[in-house]
Amino acid sequence: MNYRHIFHAGNFADVFKHVLLVRMLVHLAQKAAAFRYLDTHAGTGLYDLSAEAAQRTGEWREGIGSLQAADMPADCRALLAPYLELVGPINPGEGRMLYPGSPVLAQGLARPQDRMTLCELHPEDVQTLRSTLGRDSRAKALEIDGFTALNAFLPPKERRGLVLVDPPFEAGDDMQRVAQGVVRAHAKWAGGIYAIWYPVKDVDSGDWLARQFAEAGIERRLRIELRVAGQSAENRLIGCGLLVINPPFTLAAQCQIILPELARILGKGHEAGWRIK
Ligand code: SAM
Repeated sequence: MNYRHIFHAGNFADVFKHVLLVRMLVHLAQKAAAFRYLDTHAGTGLYDLSAEAAQRTGEWREGIGSLQAADMPADCRALLAPYLELVGPINPGEGRMLYPGSPVLAQGLARPQDRMTLCELHPEDVQTLRSTLGRDSRAKALEIDGFTALNAFLPPKERRGLVLVDPPFEAGDDMQRVAQGVVRAHAKWAGGIYAIWYPVKDVDSGDWLARQFAEAGIERRLRIELRVAGQSAENRLIGCGLLVINPPFTLAAQCQIILPELARILGKGHEAGWRIK
């Protein structure tokens, strides 16, 4: 495992994923009944953007840095408010440079009755995650393969909740494991919300993933994509997507407001764009 999220924390792909994650958790928190949050690839939970690794790539500047500096219409700002409040100010000048990962965002939105299962295979990262979460009886950070967890921990006893599947896609078979793992998980727990992040490079992995779910009879899907640049010769990350199974009924309409603004603020040039299907 070579992947270290600190190099990419707060970049356009994190902003996109975390804005949508927060919208879905806000939706779950609208009902009093408890929810479960399962994060199959959790990371360390909090990233210091002043660290050498984050400074070296500087990716956060064109992600959360651009978003925080941007003007946007009031309806979009209102939808982004819970996310921006959880992130808090990032001020290089004043020394506060922390960006929250998915477990810390979920921790910020979970209520006393909710539970979080956070899986991270890197032994050091899981230790960092535990100390980041502190003493929180709602959260369990486990050193376990996220794909094993998908099979082992579903269905949750709460019977409602969200599974975030966010692998690094550094191993050649990650995409296959995602498809197989989610199809199997869905067979055990058909009612959960599954949010699967995928990269957009030259190959359209979103099409392939959507086809696997369609062939498995998983019909309730929403595919949301953000593209920040045009095709690149070096097969770089030019966009990303979130394939959501059983999306909250409000999500598509919210995306119609949020995505054009994310494409405008985070995109570079006329090839930036978004789509929902
Ligand atoms: N979900 C996090 C967030 O949004 O803040 C970011 C996760 S990062 C993209 C992927 C993480 O998966 C890395 O921390 C990596 O160490 C971890 N990882 C890699 N392979 C794994 C596996 N098989 N099971 C669980 N975690 C894994």
